[in-house]
Amino acid sequence: MAFDPLTMLTITIALAAAAALYLAVEWRVVREPCLLFWSAGFALVSVGSTLALLRGSGLLLIGIWFANGLLVTAHWMFMHGVARFTETPIRKVWYSVFAIWAALLLLPGDQAWSKTFLVVNSVLVGALAIGASLLLRPKAKSLGEGAAQLRVVLLGHGIFYLCKTIPALVPGTLIDLAAFRGEIIQISLVEGVMALMLIALSMTGTVRYRREKRIERLASRDPLTSLYNRRALESRAPHLLSGISPASPGALLLIDIDNFKQVNDLHGHAAGDKVLVTLGETILSILPEGALAARLGGDEFIILLSNASSEDILQLGDALRTEFQSVVALQVATPEAVTLSIGASVFEQPPADLAALIERGDIALYESKRGGRNSIRLADNVISMGAA
Ligand code: GH3
Ligand code: MG
Repeated sequence: MAFDPLTMLTITIALAAAAALYLAVEWRVVREPCLLFWSAGFALVSVGSTLALLRGSGLLLIGIWFANGLLVTAHWMFMHGVARFTETPIRKVWYSVFAIWAALLLLPGDQAWSKTFLVVNSVLVGALAIGASLLLRPKAKSLGEGAAQLRVVLLGHGIFYLCKTIPALVPGTLIDLAAFRGEIIQISLVEGVMALMLIALSMTGTVRYRREKRIERLASRDPLTSLYNRRALESRAPHLLSGISPASPGALLLIDIDNFKQVNDLHGHAAGDKVLVTLGETILSILPEGALAARLGGDEFIILLSNASSEDILQLGDALRTEFQSVVALQVATPEAVTLSIGASVFEQPPADLAALIERGDIALYESKRGGRNSIRLADNVISMGAA
């Protein structure tokens, strides 16, 4: 099937302009700088493709050198956008693409001109696309599905451009860029349209995916301590609790700071916040792998564990109390010591629901408070008392 290059070029101009506009509108909403670079890249593709139409009228410098220069610059913009997205600095060596491009003007206009031009153009575009793809590689997992998609599309696009050099390097093939005809140009225009759509789509997907992840993270974390909030705990707990059995008992620790109000009253809310952050950090430092920790609200925290015995809970609770008390004692001075009361519960069957489990822990916590604070109590049993 033959494709009319002028029609394909017109489609490219329209699609690139649409992609530029789309990414600019997306930028207005989410304000990610990478979108501006990508939008500018597509705008350059659109302008460059419009100028490429002029080579039919004999304007070779504008229609070939300048138009393709804009294509190279567009890919440079794509790479710059990826660098902004991944927060990776761009190596200085990439700026040399512009010097190489300018050097093409010095080429004598003989028969080899078209071939040399095609090879240099393809290598530069291919290298920039692959370079951008590599910038996404080391972080692709943490950047998410969208970034992995963009990486593959850019890699495929770059490899295609490198392959475009093969026919030009084969002796005897006739390439005439001025005539704007031939299979290489036709295939290239078809690939251009496909790449345009795929790159633009995966660029928006990339940013949206990261945004969604950020929102998800903000919605599931307590902003002060960065531990999970109650809602995130409720959505994650069923998975942990479903694995509970007599062979692998579960445990809950409900933790409340003792005399916390004295910190707020004597040293201010900011000092109180600092103590809460300290508790969050201490919990994370002693948290076994696979356990869940959350701030339920105020000065109340929770830890959920699987595969835990009463002895493990005792050890964990004591380690937490000792570490927290020693750090806080250096932070704030209060008439009564700022310590931890812990209500614990060990269970061998998955509980009916998390609320029922917390209620059991609450009763044990109340017992701990009533017994003089700074202690850990197991629901129905006293398993450890610290010095009050
Ligand atoms: P008890 O020993 O019986 O636990 O008493 P307490 O002084 O620790 O006070 P209690 O647990 O009853 O109350 C918790 C206080 O925590 C009440 C509230 O003013 C304060 N608080 C709740 N959220 C925050 C917060 O985000 N930051 C600060 N600084 N204080 C908070
Ligand atoms: Mg308290």
